[in-house]
Amino acid sequence: MKFCPNCASQLIKQEIDGAYKNVCVSDGCDFVNWNNPVPVVAGLVQLGNNYVLARNSEWPKEVFSVITGFMEKNETPEESISRELKEELGYACMSLKFIGHFKFPKNNQLIIAYHLEAKGALSLSTEIAEIKVVSREALFQYDFGKFQLTSEIISSWARSENAHNNTP
Ligand SMILES: [Zn+2]
Repeated sequence: MKFCPNCASQLIKQEIDGAYKNVCVSDGCDFVNWNNPVPVVAGLVQLGNNYVLARNSEWPKEVFSVITGFMEKNETPEESISRELKEELGYACMSLKFIGHFKFPKNNQLIIAYHLEAKGALSLSTEIAEIKVVSREALFQYDFGKFQLTSEIISSWARSENAHNNTP
């Protein structure tokens, strides 16, 4: 953001609380572009004993990931990811479990990740080009390439699952 959305003056870099922000210094305007991260929900989708990875229509062939989406106004993250599951894949959410939150500074996003148990008939939105259904073993070995964060989410899920399975 280069110009003030309130008065159209050029924004100036200033230090506020130890971090540089673009601020408006024109008289009577106190606009600050805080540039706070945007929350994005992500869902690792389980269908029976398998996991469903999706390829966005804009991604190259063979590039798959978990499903993601922006939150709508007045939604909880749980409601958002359940809605995305329905919209993108047509599945109903039977249960969901928080995996963790992950920072994604490249896109200035906070990723809030869930594991979802899904049910129902597949019905792809136009946003999704295709899906890949993989076993649990294949999921943990899947090469997500440049999508490091997807690997991180799945590793985090695997660790919590292992911790859970090892509990006497
Ligand atoms: Zn201004």
